[in-house]
Amino acid sequence: MARTTADPQRTKYLLDEKDIPSKWYNIQADLKTPAPPVLHPATGQPIGPEDLAPLFPMELIKQEVSTRRWIPIPDGVRDVLRLWRPSPLVRARRLEQTLDTPARIYYKYEGVSPAGSHKPNTAVAQAYYNKQEGVARLSTETGAGQWGSALAFASTLFGLQCKVYMVKVSYQQKPYRRIMMETWGASVVASPSPDTESGKKVLEKDPDSPGSLGIAISEAVEDAATRDDTKYSLGSVLNHVLMHQTVIGLEAKKQLAKADDEADIVIGCAGGGSNFAGLTFPFAADKLTGKKRELRIIAVEPSACPSLTKGTYTYDFGDTIGLTPLVKMHTLGHSFVPAPLHAGGLRYHGMAPLVSKLHDEGVIEAVAVPQLATFEAALQFARSEGIIPAPESAHAIRVAIDEALRAREAGQPRTILFNLSGHGHFDLGAYEAYFAGKLEDYEYPAEKIAEALRGVPQVKA
Ligand SMILES: *Cc1c(COP(=O)(O)O)cnc(C)c1O
Repeated sequence: MARTTADPQRTKYLLDEKDIPSKWYNIQADLKTPAPPVLHPATGQPIGPEDLAPLFPMELIKQEVSTRRWIPIPDGVRDVLRLWRPSPLVRARRLEQTLDTPARIYYKYEGVSPAGSHKPNTAVAQAYYNKQEGVARLSTETGAGQWGSALAFASTLFGLQCKVYMVKVSYQQKPYRRIMMETWGASVVASPSPDTESGKKVLEKDPDSPGSLGIAISEAVEDAATRDDTKYSLGSVLNHVLMHQTVIGLEAKKQLAKADDEADIVIGCAGGGSNFAGLTFPFAADKLTGKKRELRIIAVEPSACPSLTKGTYTYDFGDTIGLTPLVKMHTLGHSFVPAPLHAGGLRYHGMAPLVSKLHDEGVIEAVAVPQLATFEAALQFARSEGIIPAPESAHAIRVAIDEALRAREAGQPRTILFNLSGHGHFDLGAYEAYFAGKLEDYEYPAEKIAEALRGVPQVKA
């Protein structure tokens, strides 16, 4: 049970640079049963390292399947993380007062990174290993631009070239994210682009195609697969990406100890699952090993794209077109196209396999929240704590507030911790739309999901 004897005025819990974790936590070591294998799309057989070698450096392929509990973080990675880590843990005292709750609310703030979100935590590690293995150039896709800017930043620090295929609508609507990437030296094209066969094919059929994340993934993968000097980089979903993000939760645990407090509820928003896993997996370890069984861990997703709460736990493709290996995950069907939500980072049809497995086993809970209630929470947070949150992060805030209100009803001083995965400085257009009354709640897209689920490939158990 939580307790606190620490300084009653204390607001920020800061750590020293030497407290940046020296190892990543690999939750695969603590799973009761091994993670299901990744399957080859053509043969249905488990894939091996050689299948992935054209796309990823060998060290990342090894990390993907490792069951070692702790994996050392190279000094070359920690030296870059020092630029903004350790990130602060903040006690949201003003929000607590606004809510008149006996709950103690803390947030871990990842918006202090150069790109403004948690994504550089893995971008830096991925760029580092590619550099080590002699790769000269990285290719990737980006939707809203957050992942592209994280990788552009990491690439420039390690002297790698970076090519970003940016979904055309975002390219047109979010020029500042594009300029940010170019400032860090990346080359950015609107996808579909004439630079790849995949892009050309789409453009032939539809020269005005607005693009999609699925098309952009195909272009970035083709780019890496057809060039010897290039590998591909992905910003979420994969096991090694989730593991790189565990610096968030490892730091947060030390910071809560400084506050002489212990979390009862840990919350993160979940798109592909990386920031959620990053904060919560080091806490889930205590649950899995029996140290703290009563801990609640909650993933929050948008009602318009509810993969954990409404999806099926089954094998599906990671991309829209069906080029990637098959992974077992909670999915809405790879052809499902969610409504044009403003939380662009949460518009993914699937969920990280490790997050999906923990949900299937009842280790974590999931909640879906609608768009308007999410923006209400964002404003309540901005107007009490000051920081303007990314629309994605506001999903976690919504549930943190709801849990704090429940604690008030129950008269219990629960300790709530959530991840503030990024700031919303490039998302002010979404806030503007909210103020203008132009944002809407989308109905639960039951029919579209049912249709997309019918297209999920049949895989024998
Ligand atoms: C990309 C992004 C997300 C969603 O991605 P996850 O892999 O689920 O973490 C959430 N918040 C912010 C700020 C993002 O940039």
